Amino acid sequence: MEITVKAAAKLNLLLDLTSILANGYHSIYTVMQSIDIFDTITVSDTNSNEIQITCSDKSIPTDSRNTVYKAAALFFDRINKPCPGIKIHIDKVIPSQAGMAGGSSDAAAVLKALNLLYEAGLSDAELCSLGEKIGADIPFCLMGGTRLCLNKGEIMAELPPLPECYFVVVKPKQGVSTKFAYESFDSAEWIRHPDNDGFLFAATQRDLKTMCEKAANVFEQVIEIKERVIIKHIMRKYNVSLAMMTGSGAAVFGIYEKKEDADKCIIEMKKAFDKVYMAKPTEKGIFVV
Ligand code: ATP
Repeated sequence: MEITVKAAAKLNLLLDLTSILANGYHSIYTVMQSIDIFDTITVSDTNSNEIQITCSDKSIPTDSRNTVYKAAALFFDRINKPCPGIKIHIDKVIPSQAGMAGGSSDAAAVLKALNLLYEAGLSDAELCSLGEKIGADIPFCLMGGTRLCLNKGEIMAELPPLPECYFVVVKPKQGVSTKFAYESFDSAEWIRHPDNDGFLFAATQRDLKTMCEKAANVFEQVIEIKERVIIKHIMRKYNVSLAMMTGSGAAVFGIYEKKEDADKCIIEMKKAFDKVYMAKPTEKGIFVV
């Protein structure tokens, strides 16, 4: 038996850290959007009693450190069955250390794939609560679309889909570790918080113009990446509605209302950067192929 699923990357259209949770972590206030940049995950059964992982990107660990390993182990634990043996291949497209949930979306894809492969019948809510144990973005990656995510990210509300628009996404050479980003946030003297209510109201109205005016990512106030200035400069030459970093970095995205503008931006961007992507919003996070 074999199943192939596509795992969508995400962008944060709004990202704020609003309070401190009882466990000392920050509570996040974010609106996430799935986009059509996909890793493709193939899961097959092997009778080897082991979880074997291969990945097209050799820099990613294929042992128990991989998020898909953790997802598979947790899944078999949850259904009270020893792992009968599975092989997971990750065809990696989503850039790492980008703030695009590469590892999280792979884990979400494996949870969904195993649920189908072994006919376990776990509900989306059950898969989300399993996923949450591995990473805060995994519940969103499982559901996808446009969602407000609160607390650790596991409390979610579905928002209307974005009006038609095009994303140009650029991953600079420099990556940012999530740990470094949070440490930088914690050592900042002060932070200017976005108009979260204003953004959210605009999102409920599908008012992309106001969303772009209100959008902000607090990590841009504490993470400095030289290439970000150049990326935004190029994006702004072509009528970009918003140019912003996603997650804790380092990828930067531009939102374009017209495909012609996005196309022109891509042409110039590719002369300066290797990892440049055109994307559109998707209404789901995982697609069974
Ligand atoms: P996020 O937006 O969730 O913060 P990110 O872009 O910061 O994600 P990831 O791409 O998820 O970061 O990967 C961060 C690190 O996690 C990588 O450097 C890699 O070593 C490790 N990792 C473990 N499993 C995976 C996986 N399946 N795909 C990518 N990276 C993985």
